[in-house]
Amino acid sequence: MSSIADNIRSVTRRIQKATEAAGRTDGSVRLLAVSKTRPAEDLRLAAAAGQHAFGENYLQEALDKMEALADLPQLEWHFIGPIQSNKTRPIAEYFQWVHSVDRLKVARRLNDQRPEDLPPLNICVQVNIDEEASKSGCHPGELDDLAAAISDLPRLSLRGLMAIPDPDQSEDALRASFHRLARALENLQKNPQVTGPLDTLSMGMSGDLELAIAEGATLVRVGTALFGPRDYSR
Ligand SMILES: *Cc1c(COP(=O)(O)O)cnc(C)c1O
Repeated sequence: MSSIADNIRSVTRRIQKATEAAGRTDGSVRLLAVSKTRPAEDLRLAAAAGQHAFGENYLQEALDKMEALADLPQLEWHFIGPIQSNKTRPIAEYFQWVHSVDRLKVARRLNDQRPEDLPPLNICVQVNIDEEASKSGCHPGELDDLAAAISDLPRLSLRGLMAIPDPDQSEDALRASFHRLARALENLQKNPQVTGPLDTLSMGMSGDLELAIAEGATLVRVGTALFGPRDYSR
């Protein structure tokens, strides 16, 4: 059985190789460790191996882990799961990043509920890049208006875009989906109504991070390759 520390090393190596193969600057792609369903002790092991950014999908589970790991103040928490609008307050209070904002109502609530003593909350807009019927994420055609509206919210910092492409497509089609997300970010960067750092493309997971990096990912969200297969029965 390989250890979490070994897995972090091998995923980091994969990221480095893909970054180099794409002719991009070493260090331009961050690793977000997706720790949904993992016990706090697994995150502690990852932190001991130098991994400090964690992505969580389920609010209560994340809050429990934050409490269990409160002795590690350097941890950075990213919310990456679907957001119920009545659950925004703890997200605004306890996370540094949210990757799954797909509607203005949620963005407004996060803005209003972000505590004054904290820096603005880092936001990625989730885009339904393959326009799948049952998927979360804003429709690509709605992105300009949503991003412009989020730009006007002072307690949010619009960092970029996130997508989870349809996994049941060919490698070429998957790469085309990543390419469309990268183009969508470029378009926002040129849009005078949209302001914010706009420096983040959150795309690529355990099975496809190389394709995502080839298309410009700046942050890959990796679970299985770090922690092993998930057991949802727990
Ligand atoms: C679970 C999850 C991941 C990680 O997927 P793996 O295939 O385990 O690497 C990435 N992003 C989101 C939004 C997820 O829910």
